[in-house]
Amino acid sequence: MTIKLLLSDGSAKEIPPQDLKKELESVNAIAVRVNGELRDLYPVIIGEVDTSAVIEPVVAASAEGLGIYRHSVSHIMAHAVQDLFPEVKVAIGPSIEDGFYYDFDRETPFSVEDLEKIEKKMTEIIKKSSPFVRKIMDRREAIEFFRGKGEEYKVEILNEIADDEVSFYEEDGFTDLCRGPHLPRTGRVKAFKLLSVAGAYWRGDEKRKMLQRIYGTAFVTKDELKTYLEFLEEVKRRDHRKLGKELDLFSMNDEIGSGLILWHPNGALIRKTIEDFWREEHIKADYNLLFTPHIARLDLWKTSGHVDFYSENMYSPMDIDGVEYELKPMNCPFHILIYKNDLKSYRDLPIRYAELGTVYRYERSGVLHGLLRVRGFTQDDAHIFCREDQIEAEIRKVLEFTIFMLETFGFREYSIYLSTRPEKYVGTVESWERATAALRMALDNKGLKFSEDVGGGAFYGPKIDIKIKDALNRYWQCSTIQVDFNNPERFDMTYRGSDGAEHRPIMIHRALMGSLERFFGVLLEHYGGAFPLWLAPVQAKVLTISDRHDVFAKEVCDRMKAAGLRPQADMRNEKIGFKIREATIRKIPYLVIIGDKEAANRQITVRLRNGDNKGPYGVDEFIEIMRQEVLNKQ
Ligand SMILES: [Zn+2]
Ligand SMILES: [Zn+2]
Repeated sequence: MTIKLLLSDGSAKEIPPQDLKKELESVNAIAVRVNGELRDLYPVIIGEVDTSAVIEPVVAASAEGLGIYRHSVSHIMAHAVQDLFPEVKVAIGPSIEDGFYYDFDRETPFSVEDLEKIEKKMTEIIKKSSPFVRKIMDRREAIEFFRGKGEEYKVEILNEIADDEVSFYEEDGFTDLCRGPHLPRTGRVKAFKLLSVAGAYWRGDEKRKMLQRIYGTAFVTKDELKTYLEFLEEVKRRDHRKLGKELDLFSMNDEIGSGLILWHPNGALIRKTIEDFWREEHIKADYNLLFTPHIARLDLWKTSGHVDFYSENMYSPMDIDGVEYELKPMNCPFHILIYKNDLKSYRDLPIRYAELGTVYRYERSGVLHGLLRVRGFTQDDAHIFCREDQIEAEIRKVLEFTIFMLETFGFREYSIYLSTRPEKYVGTVESWERATAALRMALDNKGLKFSEDVGGGAFYGPKIDIKIKDALNRYWQCSTIQVDFNNPERFDMTYRGSDGAEHRPIMIHRALMGSLERFFGVLLEHYGGAFPLWLAPVQAKVLTISDRHDVFAKEVCDRMKAAGLRPQADMRNEKIGFKIREATIRKIPYLVIIGDKEAANRQITVRLRNGDNKGPYGVDEFIEIMRQEVLNKQ
């Protein structure tokens, strides 16, 4: 008799049952798949397995294994919390993308000192290295067991389970309701860290009790944990809300309301630079630029279907002269009505309308997040109206355009998804298939790798989503290209074909950056606030050492300004070190320092953001260097 063991390279080998323990230990398995099903390691090792079974070791380094590993740490955390604070009730504790959490019911929030205590206790539990033991209990018995301990959340969960029997995991006296599997022993945990505490409603329901969620993470090695913690520090340093304050770029104000952004002069200047670039490039790419109102009659949103399908994201209508008006959640209907303003022929197509259109959408206050999730934002929106035979070429152009734009901002790696026909859809299967094939072809022709999200499209058409990878290797959803069979129908859009008959155009919605607010937030974190020269609100700061140098400093500034650059002089009676420090905190690209030598030689020395010094340069020579750098958008 032999057992079939699947190896990590995909091959399999037949082994005698008595070798199983050795084999699993040799790869350092933490769990196993038995005939495809995830199971605990220990029972399999002691032979509680059918000899006809196919066994696959699960190691902690795999995504699946890491989930088991981290979830086991969440049990250990709950164990430690109840040891230290016996009055605390436990709720749930899953593993999540970069770690795990556990929700606790406790009146006072956990403090930083509490977390330290809990970590210490967890280390003790891990040192003991007790086994995680799986137990099966009758569900009714289990309800009694947890009711007896006052664990009302577990009772609530158990009341909703349909099975008669439920499983538990116990280590060193701490028992938790759990499907498993788990690590064989607590001692297998090598590196963990508790990260933060946040309020979380039980079951995510704002009407239920607010619990305390402790977040933590765990890794297989101490080095991996260290790298991850350093990454978190960098994420904190680059938080766009923090940088937004430090660099005086934007703010939000309670007197105005949540999710509404105030762009300060420096932020507004960057935004204007992005908008100028965006408009210029759209004109080059044969788009027509539009402006449309912020409100429209409610009837328009009925025609577009927003009232029926999008109302949870829309604000209440307002009454104007007895007619209901609505703040716009999207720009599309306006562009459609501009299209419909006169008759269109097949020769007019494609028509490309673009607008930096500000829209308002309701978001729950709990999900609002800095610039990334707001209630009022400006989409870099465009709608392309074309014939069916033009879809592929248009999508290809949009893809080229998108990549050009994203690369200009330093994003060179993407993750692309093509979403296809869902179960509920409008239009014919044939038109869906033709459009989807056109999207696929356009991606293939551009040599872009993508994954298909089968059935993941909106009900009105297939789409392409592009996520961009930032400097910290995080992905952000920004660009979308969406085919729409629905709106042309709803608004009865037509064009006269070469056959003289009326046809429906295809509508493509697309946004390259998504929204200016969100894109700006991503950009701010991507650059860590150190904007490239073409975007930097202040491109050079001219610093004088003494007031003897004011005249030359002013001349340098004036000449830079005349060349279309954005300099600023600092002629305050302050120490040069202080001036340098202040400008460095503001992440200004070039510091031009003017002292006796510079003034006498009519030359400048330049200090870069990274502290390097360059020069001396003639004034015109350096202005030309800056101008080229701005032109190249480096
Ligand atoms: Zn568990
Ligand atoms: Zn649209």
